[in-house]
Amino acid sequence: MSSYRIQGGTGEWEVVIGLEVHAQVTSESKLFSGAATAFGAEPNTQVSLIDAAMPGMLPVPNKECIRQAVRTGMAINAQINKWSRFDRKNYFYADLPQGYQISQLYHPLVGEGSIEIEPEGAEPKVIGIERIHVEQDAGKLMHDQHPTRSYVDLNRSGVALMEIVSRPDMRSPAEAGAYVKKLRSILRYVGSCDGNMEQGSMRADVNVSVRKPGDAFGTRTETKNVNSIRFVMAAIEYEARRQVDLIEDGGTVVQETRLFDPDKGVTRSMRSKEDAHDYRYFPDPDLLPLELDDAFLEEARASLPELPDAKRKRYEEVLGISAYNADVLTADVETARWFEAMLAEGAQAKAASNWVMSELFGALNRLGKSISESPVSPKQAAELVGLVQDGTLSGSLAKQVFEVMLETGQDAGVIVEERGLKQTSDTGAIEAEIAKVMEANPDKVAEYRGGKDKLFGFFVGQTMRAMAGKANPAVVNDLLKKALDA
Ligand code: ADP
Ligand code: MG
Repeated sequence: MSSYRIQGGTGEWEVVIGLEVHAQVTSESKLFSGAATAFGAEPNTQVSLIDAAMPGMLPVPNKECIRQAVRTGMAINAQINKWSRFDRKNYFYADLPQGYQISQLYHPLVGEGSIEIEPEGAEPKVIGIERIHVEQDAGKLMHDQHPTRSYVDLNRSGVALMEIVSRPDMRSPAEAGAYVKKLRSILRYVGSCDGNMEQGSMRADVNVSVRKPGDAFGTRTETKNVNSIRFVMAAIEYEARRQVDLIEDGGTVVQETRLFDPDKGVTRSMRSKEDAHDYRYFPDPDLLPLELDDAFLEEARASLPELPDAKRKRYEEVLGISAYNADVLTADVETARWFEAMLAEGAQAKAASNWVMSELFGALNRLGKSISESPVSPKQAAELVGLVQDGTLSGSLAKQVFEVMLETGQDAGVIVEERGLKQTSDTGAIEAEIAKVMEANPDKVAEYRGGKDKLFGFFVGQTMRAMAGKANPAVVNDLLKKALDA
């Protein structure tokens, strides 16, 4: 890609980025307890004795959470470790009743993998993934409920997270944005995380350092819990600039944890960065190591759907859809499902892809709806596209019919019948209208015949209007040429 450089007083700098993405595992219950995980519940209504860290409670691993993390690892072509282990990460915080988080430091469930990204306007690039480990989420402190007190909500306490750790392979905000987008797309395809960043089910710790091109890596800072793609990119932009200015002013970057302030677009120091040994990690004595058998792994692999890269390739190579359309239609699993439902109803792939990209997306945009809320079903859409293909409707009639479908929910065929919107190729009727148009515009006919070719469009428009838009445009073109050139 055209490389991203930061201009400083001492020349150009390169930015180095690694992301740690926390993705909440889609599961009914928590990682080590049976408490529910639904978003938006009243505070402290989804807390078991285990999540509240009552003495003597024992954690029991939730098989589904492990399975989802394994499936995710498989989806990024990662090594799956058949033997892994949970460790305690010890620290004190008021939202962490246990006084430690159960995580995986030494033997993570998932090892090395990779993701291919396609930053806008740039060549694809492979970003390495170092590991995915499974861990518990903490609770949430609430400082805005009482003038002098803080409250704690433990609903999130013990919810399963996957921490997906990238290699420091990204070199621009655009690459980081493309990486989070692609990762979210994969997670949604797999169904292991809903990827909902606004609700906090996916958030990124953004590691940034700067260096002179060719130099060794610089010291990084880590900006915690960034919860949108736009903010990830903004945090990198700000942090890289800050580090360059700092170094050029004779300062040094300290390894620290920072917070992003979305209102001001700046990062702020939160605390100096702790190292692994500060947490006194040790194997959790309440849990046996995880040992996965082949049947478990085989089932997990067999359960994976076709993933976005493979799907995009198939759309292009097998269905003959343009690269751009294939890219857009496969980026989001809901869109791909909707589109494939249209094909299952008999729609022709290329025509259907063009229709979804222009007509459906246009309408959904106007209505402020997502594709899963589309007022028109894939089956209805397939019928509409079919009516264009078999010549019953012209493109412009199809647009009219679609508008009526959106308003009334009726099927295309019904609308065509009831409103008489069929396209006509009746040459007699079209020729009669052409004759009238030519009679009414003798000056234009003369000009056209004198060489003003551009007027052809005028005649097409007049004839179509006279036919109330229902004439087959190809037939109109044909007959007009004959009549005018006569
Ligand atoms: P820790 O566990 O202490 O956060 P890691 O070595 O596991 O440290 O790295 C965490 C993240 O920081 C990874 O995503 C990695 O890619 C990234 N990272 C490591 N070194 C750098 C660097 N010099 N610049 C930017 N990112 C880095
Ligand atoms: Mg970290």
